[in-house]
Amino acid sequence: MSKALGLAVLLLGMLLAAVSLPRDPAVAAPARHTLSLEVHRPEGPPVLLQFLVAAATPGDALTAARRTAAELVPTGYVSESSVSAQWAAWGWKWADDELPVTVAYNPTGAPSSVGPQAVIAGLQAWSSVPDSRFAFRYGGITDNVASILASGPDGENVVSWSPMECNPGCVLGVTSKETAHEVDMLLNSNPEAATQVGIDGTLDWRTVILHELGHIAGLEHSCPVPFGPCTDEELGAVMHYQYRGIQRKLEADDIAGVVALYPLAPSAAPSPGVSPTLPVDVPVVLEPGWNFLVLPALGMDVLASRLSCLTAGYAFEAGAWQSWIRGAPGLLQSLSATRAGSAYWLLASGPCATTVAPGP
Ligand SMILES: [Zn+2]
Repeated sequence: MSKALGLAVLLLGMLLAAVSLPRDPAVAAPARHTLSLEVHRPEGPPVLLQFLVAAATPGDALTAARRTAAELVPTGYVSESSVSAQWAAWGWKWADDELPVTVAYNPTGAPSSVGPQAVIAGLQAWSSVPDSRFAFRYGGITDNVASILASGPDGENVVSWSPMECNPGCVLGVTSKETAHEVDMLLNSNPEAATQVGIDGTLDWRTVILHELGHIAGLEHSCPVPFGPCTDEELGAVMHYQYRGIQRKLEADDIAGVVALYPLAPSAAPSPGVSPTLPVDVPVVLEPGWNFLVLPALGMDVLASRLSCLTAGYAFEAGAWQSWIRGAPGLLQSLSATRAGSAYWLLASGPCATTVAPGP
């Protein structure tokens, strides 16, 4: 395939992706609501709980969040003034020496349709914003549970499941933010949760996990109540306070949010005495269609051998589109290897995944 044809295919793919965006999704009831509660614990510091709730009304959503907070922290209390917690301490973000932020997964109680892949794909999405230095690292399977179920922070950021009551209003997920720089995610394993606000009656947990991981990264809801009116960008965001339907990719407002919190650091000489980050494997997860991912340095042949669904790769380098097409003669392959930290468009014929070493 020529470069011009490759570019045409790329642009067509981007156009189709744009056309298929859910511009005006069918109204589903109940809708999703988001809200935050500051819970005071008799022992230990307060914790900020950020809820994603399926409920028919905002009142039901608040009822569900308060009921769930009482379930999770029976000895805690929520003060009336903390419904929109604005305590400055909750505004902390991860320090540079805390990046990448390691998140482990405890699959105990998970619906059979949800595997670690759902978490890994979300971690990668938030780690693949080209103009941001933010990065997650998948910590593997853990026995720990979200610390909101335990006595407090345990030193590990964990995604875990627990059954939570679903009537009225159903908490789908809750993220607990601790002042001790730990954030955990708890997802509702009550089978009733999976039937809430779904397309075809099935909740897309990938969408929920992607949203909650945004909180772990440090993002608040875009255009939160009572601010507004919201822009189109804010309305389309994964982090919008009320969204509907399947949303597995970050939108412009989400990307702007993570770039604002963690812009690319100006290149500086490494300061002496700082130990280098330990090398960790980088997950590469492809969805059917176009994927926009930051990759480590790697030969395209190596990448292709480990990703059976990969059919083409594109990058804009040196003022021109470079391409790699599976099966094309070597002379036509203008993209032979990826460069560490650069972003690539990858076309996949189906879902597939691998992990690769981060490289130098
Ligand atoms: Zn939220």
